[in-house]
Amino acid sequence: MERNINVKHAQSTNSSSITLDIDEYCPHCKNSVSPHIIYAVTSKPIQRDSFNSIAIFLQCPRSVCSKFYSLEYPCSVSQYSAIDKIKNSIKYTYSPHLENTLPENLKATFPDFIKIYEQSLEAESMGLDEIAGVGYRKSIEFLIKSYVIREHPDKKDQVESMFLGNVIKDDLTDIPRVQSLAQAAVWIGNDETHFTRIHDDKDIRDMKSFLEAAALFISANLKADEAAEFTASPES
Ligand SMILES: [Zn+2]
Repeated sequence: MERNINVKHAQSTNSSSITLDIDEYCPHCKNSVSPHIIYAVTSKPIQRDSFNSIAIFLQCPRSVCSKFYSLEYPCSVSQYSAIDKIKNSIKYTYSPHLENTLPENLKATFPDFIKIYEQSLEAESMGLDEIAGVGYRKSIEFLIKSYVIREHPDKKDQVESMFLGNVIKDDLTDIPRVQSLAQAAVWIGNDETHFTRIHDDKDIRDMKSFLEAAALFISANLKADEAAEFTASPES
């Protein structure tokens, strides 16, 4: 997102107004945010023909995160004098620890899914977006197939060898909202694993949010099964 920022010149009382294209993702919580800009300054005093850059200090506006971080942009002298736009920041790598916040009953019921999901989180934490994308795609397959096999143990061999798309279409008809979420996650996930990308407007974060929403529905279904079993037994 483009933000007009007042940039203080290093070792000077002067400042310039410059438009920067700010990455909308917090590097700590990986959520889409409009960060607070605390301060912006050039890295060196301004001298013609020397490399300079702008560093900005930001804070994630989400109260559960609120972490600080920095971005840096290359900047030529001419860009200080007029309102100008700088699009590409210099690559910084943050390695936040992304926690698995999915409900506990998924861990107990689908350990293989959780193992792949947590390894994908680890890859995403290390900035390995491509590997994480492939991992999340694999984790959706394990979540959906494990859930269907749990509901229909007699179909185990059949489900294991089926294409995931067909399992979603044929075996999730009783939970259509999970069907849509899984389908959406898989469409984006296939882009992560194939050479050619079809859904350019969606990325790994969209896939992860569809995957997590599907997992929450499935977790709620497991809980509802537990409650139904409990209430079906004679009251003690
Ligand atoms: Zn954040």
